[in-house]
Amino acid sequence: MSSAIEAVKALTTGFATTFKHLFRKPITEEYPEYKRPLPERTRARIILTRDPDGNERCVACYLCSGACPVSCISMQSAQKENGRRYATWFRINHARCIYCGLCEEACPTSAIQLTPMFETCEQDILKLVYEKEDLLVDHCGKDREYNFYKYAGIVTEIGGKGEHEKEDKPVNVKSNLP
Ligand code: SF4
Ligand code: SF4
Repeated sequence: MSSAIEAVKALTTGFATTFKHLFRKPITEEYPEYKRPLPERTRARIILTRDPDGNERCVACYLCSGACPVSCISMQSAQKENGRRYATWFRINHARCIYCGLCEEACPTSAIQLTPMFETCEQDILKLVYEKEDLLVDHCGKDREYNFYKYAGIVTEIGGKGEHEKEDKPVNVKSNLP
């Protein structure tokens, strides 16, 4: 095939594509006037949720902080008299966060969750450092049922050893010694 025929064929294909798109309905979305509803699993602004009883879910186990590939989570753990652990302070540097979701995957209590809220830009980069009071919300987020202390086997006001849901009574490990 001569180069002239190849050129005509390429031009015809290109113009045909352009012509086809002339009659398509535009799909431009006028952001920010229109905000497309995003799926619940979209990974953006991070929150700390509460359990269905309204208590803080985070037990300050540091798993999220250990899983974070950019080390942008830090906290200090403490324990209440009733046996519940909590974070005295909890900090996420959203300027470093890459929204990978590994912290959410690692969390055993469903406390830390990523949300579809992506409008978090700031001119002052230090405003992207979120403290516990910025992160803690008054709802359960995506997981509306889970209460870690009902299954954890940790002695709290919810129950002692062997009294939690799906939990067997403790075994005396020395009972089968010869
Ligand atoms: S989403 Fe990823 S980068 Fe952001 S805090 Fe969680 S683990 Fe770290
Ligand atoms: S948010 Fe979850 S993983 Fe992170 S410290 Fe709290 S309980 Fe542990």
